Amino acid sequence: MPSLSVILPAYNEEAMLPKTARVLAQILEGEKIDYELVFVDDGSKDLTWSEVLTAHQANDRVHGVHFSRNFGKEAAIFAGLAAAKGDCAAVMDCDLQHPPQTLVQMYRLWQQGYEVIEGVKKSRGKESGAHRAAAGMFYSLMSRATKIDMSRASDFKLLDRRAVNTLLDMPEQNAFFRAMSAWIGFRRTQVEFDVQEREAGVSKWSTRKLIRYAISNIAGYSTAPMQCVTWAGAAFLAFAIILGIQTLVRYFTGHAVEGFTTVILLVLLTGSIIMISLGVVGYYVARIYEEAKRRPRYIVSRTV
Ligand code: UDP
Ligand code: MG
Repeated sequence: MPSLSVILPAYNEEAMLPKTARVLAQILEGEKIDYELVFVDDGSKDLTWSEVLTAHQANDRVHGVHFSRNFGKEAAIFAGLAAAKGDCAAVMDCDLQHPPQTLVQMYRLWQQGYEVIEGVKKSRGKESGAHRAAAGMFYSLMSRATKIDMSRASDFKLLDRRAVNTLLDMPEQNAFFRAMSAWIGFRRTQVEFDVQEREAGVSKWSTRKLIRYAISNIAGYSTAPMQCVTWAGAAFLAFAIILGIQTLVRYFTGHAVEGFTTVILLVLLTGSIIMISLGVVGYYVARIYEEAKRRPRYIVSRTV
């Protein structure tokens, strides 16, 4: 049984994986840490899996889990947690953007008795302007929904075995590692790190993917959007009462008719608000449906 399992979700990381495996092995061996590396190949379309096999041949502390298709980073993290055998498990990116030195620092804190050690971004590295703007907006919404500072939070974390088992016992399909690992509690501390630049390969986060991710996580951790529907309804009711009184007054004073524009505008406006509200409610119903199906979070096709 190793004492530290390092979980590395990898999607199309053929360019970085060999180096990441080598660098981590070298540093952890230098620090005399008993480790294993668990690469989770998230259905890559390139040679990532054969790089995992090569790395395994060179170093038997390298293990691999291969998905039958791309299930996303969250699923890969949970597959890694399920496969990890260590007394503690760390999750880090496979592109060395999370500095290995910080991993060592986290491990030392774990040895001092901390159970959840969170990596917090001191700087965000290079991102495009549009991406940064979209990220900024959704991070602030997500922070409010999940009650953690999403703009600095990262998936770079080290968890004690007890915390890992707690996470594995949480049954939701739509897992969100950052929020779930904050929710579980335990003795926790934070470590700041600078996001390194990606040396090879490309980022898998398009702005569109980020928006979808944000909406899904806001819905998963907050029912505020549904409450907004009620508030919109209440606002409209107030408006309707005022307008109703005015209409009645006009009727009794003989100034009725006219008002075609008002009627059309009101019909269009109420119609669109009702439809948007139905969409919001539908989104939650869809999530209940997804959870009710009880499908597995991911499908493993091979392991090594
Ligand atoms: N990743 C994954 N599945 C995906 C997308 C990304 O396992 O569908 C992994 C990826 O291989 C990397 C980590 O998640 O190890 C972070 O992804 P990336 O570096 O593309 O994101 P960024 O660092 O740009 O936020
Ligand atoms: Mg990256």
